[in-house]
Amino acid sequence: MSDNQIHFKYSPNIRDIDVLEEGEGICDCCGKTVSLYYPTMYCKEDIHCLCLSCIASGEAAQKFDGDFIQNAEMHKVSDPGKHKELFERTPGYVSWQGEYWLACCDDFCAYLGDVGTAELEEMGIADEVIAEYEERGEYSDIREYLMKTGSMAGYLFQCLHCKKYHLWVDAD
Ligand SMILES: [Zn+2]
Ligand SMILES: [Zn+2]
Repeated sequence: MSDNQIHFKYSPNIRDIDVLEEGEGICDCCGKTVSLYYPTMYCKEDIHCLCLSCIASGEAAQKFDGDFIQNAEMHKVSDPGKHKELFERTPGYVSWQGEYWLACCDDFCAYLGDVGTAELEEMGIADEVIAEYEERGEYSDIREYLMKTGSMAGYLFQCLHCKKYHLWVDAD
């Protein structure tokens, strides 16, 4: 399968969320020359370039004994296979404090991208996701400050099963 057909269940917008580098690189795992790659990994080695195939197949995680996601709502997902798919076979996302992947309906959610209040209002879901976030999250009164790529940033997820949106927030 060529890299541009690879799909990540938990990161369906992978090509639009500014996590991939474009340009020539040599995959640290398989040695192939690629034009689109993921530049990092949580592991002991210094990783600069991983092709999407080596991430999707789990080869990179296995070879370097690392993973791609800092943290997640692990207690909400019972199937260890889903934990492996998220941590070892899904690229992370750009954030201030590291990934915190949300879960719903006994599975991890799909990460859609970073958002501010303006984007959430445009989608018509600001009231719902902000209220839900403020019940469980660290920050309050976020509506006024939340800005896409701002110093308080929102990360939007959608449940793969009930399709509900969920928001995570962090700050610099
Ligand atoms: Zn590779
Ligand atoms: Zn759900």
